Amino acid sequence: MTATDVHRDADGGVPGVVHTRDELRSRIAALMAAAPAGAGLGLVPTMGALHDGHAALASAARTANDVVVASVFVNPLQFGDAEDLERYPRTFEADLELLGRCGVDLVFAPSIEQMYPGGTPLVRISSGSLGETFEGASRPGHFDGALTAVAKLLHLADPGAPRPFRAYFGQKDAQQLALVRRMVEDLNYRVRIEAVPIIRDDDGLARSSRNRFLSAAEREGATVLPRALSELARQAAQRLPLGIDEAVELIDSAPYVHLDYLEVVDPRTLEPWAENCRYTPFVGEALALVAARVGAVRLIDNMVLRNET
Ligand code: AMP
Repeated sequence: MTATDVHRDADGGVPGVVHTRDELRSRIAALMAAAPAGAGLGLVPTMGALHDGHAALASAARTANDVVVASVFVNPLQFGDAEDLERYPRTFEADLELLGRCGVDLVFAPSIEQMYPGGTPLVRISSGSLGETFEGASRPGHFDGALTAVAKLLHLADPGAPRPFRAYFGQKDAQQLALVRRMVEDLNYRVRIEAVPIIRDDDGLARSSRNRFLSAAEREGATVLPRALSELARQAAQRLPLGIDEAVELIDSAPYVHLDYLEVVDPRTLEPWAENCRYTPFVGEALALVAARVGAVRLIDNMVLRNET
């Protein structure tokens, strides 16, 4: 293998693809050996059906690391029902092109058997009480399954100390991000978790692989979610009390939209923010979380609430 095989420029073509754990480990070892001393590795875990949100993760990883590895794996452990898993969009060729444009060096696309060679894993990560609220409440077991896959990917892609190892997650999935951070702290992973801000379309809707299932009218209805969040962010920036009830009313008034929850929480623990933020000037930094069903599609979104400096 030559140095050009293992290290490409940021605008390189289609990245190398590996499907097995052994290949992944040996290609990472080769990439690190060819990289300068002190080079770091950035890992971007995805489920494919990639869009600009994933591209932002890959680009952030490209900027900060000498070697960038992305994974594309639709993880059955985090799907409650088989139909949802079956329906999940799969666009591997287009994914590879996008990852190539972002300068990703290597893509790990394992089969289910490669990820779970012994069948459904007996020992797995428990996401505890933080995995049972919000998204976890409507998707039991979802976060245990997601964290189990992330844990395995972190083991497989770690280039080994003292090489810096960073993994990139979107702020879009705020609860997943909070849980991954907790797992890394609680279980002493050496990886550094990097959060990437939410990428939105021009109409404000957060990019999501599920958006493709919205009709034009549903999509228009769904834009109420970022509008309600933006209004809360504006109030927070101006140190006003938060109009949470008004935001709920606004969402309830939108066609096709059925609100599941709208909550203001601590960004790290996702514990509820002080109830009096509805009545007294908002001070500090919080997160507004929202989830709604729009037609047949479940959407989540969130926005940081903080005072203007
Ligand atoms: P997924 O393929 O849906 O599992 O997402 C893979 C990663 O991309 C996760 O860390 C997501 O939070 C992140 N991601 C998905 N959509 C967006 C977005 N619109 N903006 C930023 N990150 C995103």
